[in-house]
Parts: sequence; C-alpha cells; structure tokens
Amino acid sequence: MTQLRELLAVEAGSFRLDKVDPRGTPGLPDSKAVRKDPKAWAREAVSSIGTELAAYQEKLFASAKSERTDRRVLLLLQAMDCGGKDGTVRSVFAGLNPTGVEAVSFGPPTDEEKQHDFLWRIERALPAVGHVGVFNRSQYEDVLVVRVHGLVPEDVWSQRYEQINAFETAQAEAGLTLVKVMLHISPEEQRQRLLDRLDDPTKFWKYNPGDVDERARWDDYQEAYQAALTRCSTEANPWFVVPADRKWYRNWAVATLLRDAMAAVDPGYPPADFDVETERQRVRALSQGI
Ligand code: AMP
Ligand code: MG
Repeated sequence: MTQLRELLAVEAGSFRLDKVDPRGTPGLPDSKAVRKDPKAWAREAVSSIGTELAAYQEKLFASAKSERTDRRVLLLLQAMDCGGKDGTVRSVFAGLNPTGVEAVSFGPPTDEEKQHDFLWRIERALPAVGHVGVFNRSQYEDVLVVRVHGLVPEDVWSQRYEQINAFETAQAEAGLTLVKVMLHISPEEQRQRLLDRLDDPTKFWKYNPGDVDERARWDDYQEAYQAALTRCSTEANPWFVVPADRKWYRNWAVATLLRDAMAAVDPGYPPADFDVETERQRVRALSQGI
C-alpha cells in the first residue's frame, strides 16, 4: 500500500467518520510549492496524474483486446448532496480516452429495476473488461437513503451489508479492481455550496430543493455512512474517506487513489501476435498509391 491509501483507508474495527476533518488534507506532500500555492500545485499534480492514468488506461484497453486480461477498474463515488461527485469525475477523468470509460449515475430505481434484486442494476452497469468505470452513487444507496427513509424494512436492509460484501468479493475474483471513495463534506460546506448554486443562474440546474429537506437528516445519514463504511471495508475492497471541503485536495486525493490502483493492475502493453519484421517488410514492399 502506498502512503495515501493507508492514510485514507477505513479500518473496519476502529474507524470513526465523526473524527475525520472534512477540511483536512492528509498525505499532502510537504514541499515549498505546496506551501506557496496549494491550489496551483494540486492543479498541476492532477494534470500530470491524468497523463499517467491515460497511459494505464490505454494498456488496460489494449491488453483486453488481445485477451490477456480479465481486468476492469471501477471508481465508486458516494457523498452527501453537494459533496462534489460530479466535479471529481470531471477533474479526474479529464485526460482519459472516452472510448474506454463508462460513467454511470444511479437514481431512484426504475419500475424495471424494482422488479429485481438491488444488485441487479449494479452488476449490469459494471465496466467491460479493459475499461475504467465510474459510479456516481451505487449499491450503497440501498443501505444509505433506503435505511434513512425506511424504504424497506430493517430486516431487509440490514442483510445488505453482507450481500454487498459477497458481491464485491466475487467481482474482485472475476478481475474487478474497485476503488470505493466517500467524499466527506461538512454541513457548513454543503450550506455554502447550496447558496452558491442559488447565486449563479448557470448553476440553477444543479440545485435540488429536496436537498434542503435531506439535510435535516444529516445525523441519520452520517450514522448510515458510518455503518456502510465499517461493515463493507474489506481486505479486497477497502473504503476510502476523502476529506472534500477543499475541492483541490479532493481532486488530488481521488486521482492519486485511482492512479495507485491502476498502477497495481497494470498489465503492460500486449506483445505483437504477428512477426514484426515480416510485417515491416510486407508494408515496405507496398507501392505508395493503390
Ligand atoms: P442525483 O445524484 O442528485 O441525481 O440524485 C439521485 C437521487 O437518487 C438521490 O436523491 C439518491 O438518494 C436517489 N437514489 C439513488 N439510489 C437510490 C435507491 N437505490 N433507492 C432510492 N433512492 C435512490
Ligand atoms: Mg442531488
């Protein structure tokens, strides 16, 4: 494990969400450039990590084409409303090739989805082999909003933690590298972001009056997050909590976690399945025109 992973990983036995400072910046390098202008430093760092991500993505994609891997990578994002999921995706995925990226958002289940087990729509949305996926909300909504609002009885949602763990373990064995990130914001920051949305007509579309009502359940949500984070942070699929009041830190931390995960699965470029020298001769022998 690299340092940031260790700093942000949820220890199932001892983790306390209320002890994480949403304004914190754990793992930030201690350098002159960071001290001088952390925002500018983070922008540069995220851009250069983006270049690394793009290279890993290309190799993953290429190796899947030649059937050398069953690997897929999925960044799963959860957060309170205004937690910054969309902004994180925009920033972290900026340099990737859209051809190999699959972004999926989960809202309330549709009529069709309601006919099935809660993991049905999740499994269908997993990235294909060789692709990098990102989930904006996930299977965890079924132990978060569903628990907070009592949308199903307790004896149903309380079994879902183990069901999620079994599902994620099976997927890990089938080649899925899952990076589960909770973006942790403070209530003050959420209030400010709601106000910002109302102050800017280009952000009205992001404002949801329902978010104000949900905010009244803040403590219930924190309790539900505490349970999900500790009960579903496993050896194969740990949770990471990223302090997210500072957007520049959030973007850097998520990009770093994803980069480290992709470095660990890097299959390298596939070798040629043809004789390179023979092919070079054949191509050289072609006339310039047709
Ligand atoms: P947004 O991400 O702002 O588009 O909002 C999506 C909404 O869908 C949020 O209010 C989620 O809580 C809700 N949602 C997502 N998954 C579920 C689920 N399984 N059951 C009920 N509501 C859900
Ligand atoms: Mg919303």
